[in-house]
Amino acid sequence: MVRPMSQRLQGLAQSEIRAMTRAADAAGAINLGQGICDLPTPAPVADAAVQAIRDRKSTYTYCEGDAGLRRKIAAKLARVNGIDADPETDIVVTAGSAAAFTCVLHGLFDPGDELLIPEPYYGYHVGAARVAGVVPAYVGLRAPGFELTAELLRAAITPKTRGLVLCTPSNPSGRMLTRGELEVAARVAEEFDLTVITDEIYESITYDGREHVSPASISAAMARRTVTILGLSKTFSITGWRLGYVVAPAAMAEKLKLVHDLFYICAPTPLQHGVAAGFDLDDSFFEGMRADYAAKRALLVDTLREIGLPPIVPEGAYYILADVSSMGEPTAKAAAMRLVEEAGVAAVPGTAFFSGTAGETGEGLVRFCYAKEQGALEEACRRLRTWGAARA
Ligand code: GLN
Repeated sequence: MVRPMSQRLQGLAQSEIRAMTRAADAAGAINLGQGICDLPTPAPVADAAVQAIRDRKSTYTYCEGDAGLRRKIAAKLARVNGIDADPETDIVVTAGSAAAFTCVLHGLFDPGDELLIPEPYYGYHVGAARVAGVVPAYVGLRAPGFELTAELLRAAITPKTRGLVLCTPSNPSGRMLTRGELEVAARVAEEFDLTVITDEIYESITYDGREHVSPASISAAMARRTVTILGLSKTFSITGWRLGYVVAPAAMAEKLKLVHDLFYICAPTPLQHGVAAGFDLDDSFFEGMRADYAAKRALLVDTLREIGLPPIVPEGAYYILADVSSMGEPTAKAAAMRLVEEAGVAAVPGTAFFSGTAGETGEGLVRFCYAKEQGALEEACRRLRTWGAARA
């Protein structure tokens, strides 16, 4: 008999994002499922990491990260995010933004606490909360606008609610929270004394001139209760490096440092030196990245429209939710598997991003990711068009 294992993992399985990567690999399909982001890493970032290894900067840093990197992060937070942070006390460099999220769950919450999670969500927020014993409370946003309202937030609040997750630009919907929505969220957070946890890892990937607004920048009151999570995976195309950072008022950051030390010791040292060079890149790098993603968004949006899988056009990030109900499959998973087998292109079933308990279910949707090299994305779109023509 198998010995009993953690109760907290009951009902949790490896994510659909992972499952579709395996399915894509097995079928030789192009993987537009997992947000792998296989674009080239900027040369200064790669070179600085290699140099750090050669210079034997390969031992631990403090658990909160290299001091020079934290100073660069603080300057960037002031310049780009409108966040005032003391690099000595308020910033922790983490082993990816997922590690930052884990530190927040374990450092600032107790088992049984409830966490408001707007839906559609990034499933790892839900899974990681459950592993920490924190209970997700879903706030069902309505497609296609996915607007965050005070009514929806209030409806999900109970006496046990302690926190609110804000993912903007959103994975998977691509929605960017407006200043107005953030003000609403700030008022509700104040009224119910909630800790706000942000996930802003897609902050640099925005379209049509939209400006990313960091929730902590809304007001001094909001900044006092907000833990801002940012990452470098998407900005520098280094998803496998596992580097992110978290910013919080000193008392909260202290707890995050404690957990980061106990779980991870520190983020990878030479890679911290690599990304430090990335903070010196000028605006033209970010403008170039935005233009590249905008062109890729247009290519995939046009393709999906042409083959009768209407897309919800994202405002930021690099995912598209597309309506696959015309395929007539009983589930989103079946539609995604059919796309792998018939078209040779993998996407993630929409159900991976919905609990199924807060209104919409994600059936009838799949998520495509266009963070791919141009050639691979073009080939994927060619395959989708060929498949679409055959079924028309
Ligand atoms: N953020 C990426 C996605 O949503 C990848 C993260 C992951 O592999 N879990 O696909």
